[in-house]
Formats: sequence, structure tokens, C-alpha cells
Amino acid sequence: MAYVSTQGLSVWRSDYSETSQVVSYLLKDVGRLNVLAKGVKRSSKTRPASPVDLLELDEVVILKKPAGRLSILAEHRQLESFRGVRRDLKPAWAAQYLAEILRTVAQEEHPEPELYRRSVEYLGSLARGGPVKALVTALELTVLEQCGYMPDLSSCDTCGRELKSGARFSLVGSEVVLRCTSCPSPVGGAVTVVRPGSLSAAKMLVTMEMHSVGRIRLDTGMLTELSALSRAMLRHVLGREFRMWRYV
Ligand SMILES: [Zn+2]
Repeated sequence: MAYVSTQGLSVWRSDYSETSQVVSYLLKDVGRLNVLAKGVKRSSKTRPASPVDLLELDEVVILKKPAGRLSILAEHRQLESFRGVRRDLKPAWAAQYLAEILRTVAQEEHPEPELYRRSVEYLGSLARGGPVKALVTALELTVLEQCGYMPDLSSCDTCGRELKSGARFSLVGSEVVLRCTSCPSPVGGAVTVVRPGSLSAAKMLVTMEMHSVGRIRLDTGMLTELSALSRAMLRHVLGREFRMWRYV
């Protein structure tokens, strides 16, 4: 057993007893980890109660237990609460969506520092009033990229030519196909046209810092195309839909 000192984003929490919680953190250096936060809901003469809230960024010290046993949260100090996301329903839902995504895709004790970094940036941008739909789309594309499921947005799946004039994206059965406008669309299945500007925007959204997302021009049509693309991919990869899709 060893103490681990790091930072983490709480992506789930539940009451464990009258005074304790179980918290699932996405930790900067460890990946996702469930911990027992003993006595955090109880105040004492010298210390106020400090329960962990959903989606707070904490500095933590964790007593790490062997696999199969719940680790212990020895210390935690809140660094950021992202209070600004609660100013309105849309950013609040977009924040909840991040928690749902991370609970689903972040594997236990599998460090994903870039996913962690971009998740913290995403919340910060939402809290500062960043463009919600563009940030949600950037998050979805980031998840696909970080998990290694981002389709090749540069060349046609069929003829290999560069997708200069846009692409047609379709899901036929379980097959994801991105074709140039010259190649015939596959028979059956819905086809989404993705314009060249949207393909360029997708490449930018996965590489640019989240706080810069508001600086690029994205019209509603582009966001609709990219959202259709990213959600079809996520549905394909995970075999399910996210509960928050109806809200964000
Ligand atoms: Zn082609």
C-alpha cells in the first residue's frame, strides 16, 4: 500500500454511510479510481464537514489499496468548483454530460493525462461562459481521438483520395464509412453529408485548447454535421447512447 498525491476530478459520488461517501475520481496520474471518503460529511470542533461534490477539482492524497479493495481518500482540498456552469441549464447539462462520458470511457487505473487535462479545460471553459454546443462537440471528438476511434477525416475509405470537397458519412450495419463525394454511397443506412469546412473544423477541435474553441467560426450546420458524426461513432464504439444526449 502506498500514498498517492495528485489531483482529480470527481465524476461520481454516493453516500456510503451517514458520515462517509464513495467517490469516483478521474485522477491526473492514475486514471479513474473509486475511493472511500471516510467521515467527510461530519464536522468537528476544529474542522467543517467537507463532502465531495460532483465535478469538483481536488488536490488529493489517497491510500492506494491492492486491486479489488477500495482505496481510502486520506486528504482532499478543493481547487476549483466550476461554479459558473450552474448559471444556466445548458452549461450545467454539458458538465453532467462530461461526468457521464468519463464514468463510461475512463478505465480504472489507466492513466489518460490528455483526456484529464482536456476535461478540466472543458469545465473551465463552460464555467467562463464558453460556447456550449461547440464545446460539447469538441469534447466528443476529443473522446474519440483519445480512445483511438477517430475516423480518418483526410481520405476516402473507398478510393483513398483526399476529402477536398467534403464527405458522405454513413453507418451500414456496424460498419462506419466515410466516402468522398465521387464514390457511391453504400446501399441502406442513413447518409450524413459533411462539408469540407466541417472536416477542417473537426481536425481543429481535437487539437486546439478548449478555451480557444469560441474563437473559431462554427455555424449551426457545421455543428449539426459534426455532432451527427461524433455521436454515430460513439454509438458504434460503445454500443449504447448517452443519457445526456437528449439535453446537450
Ligand atoms: Zn472516394
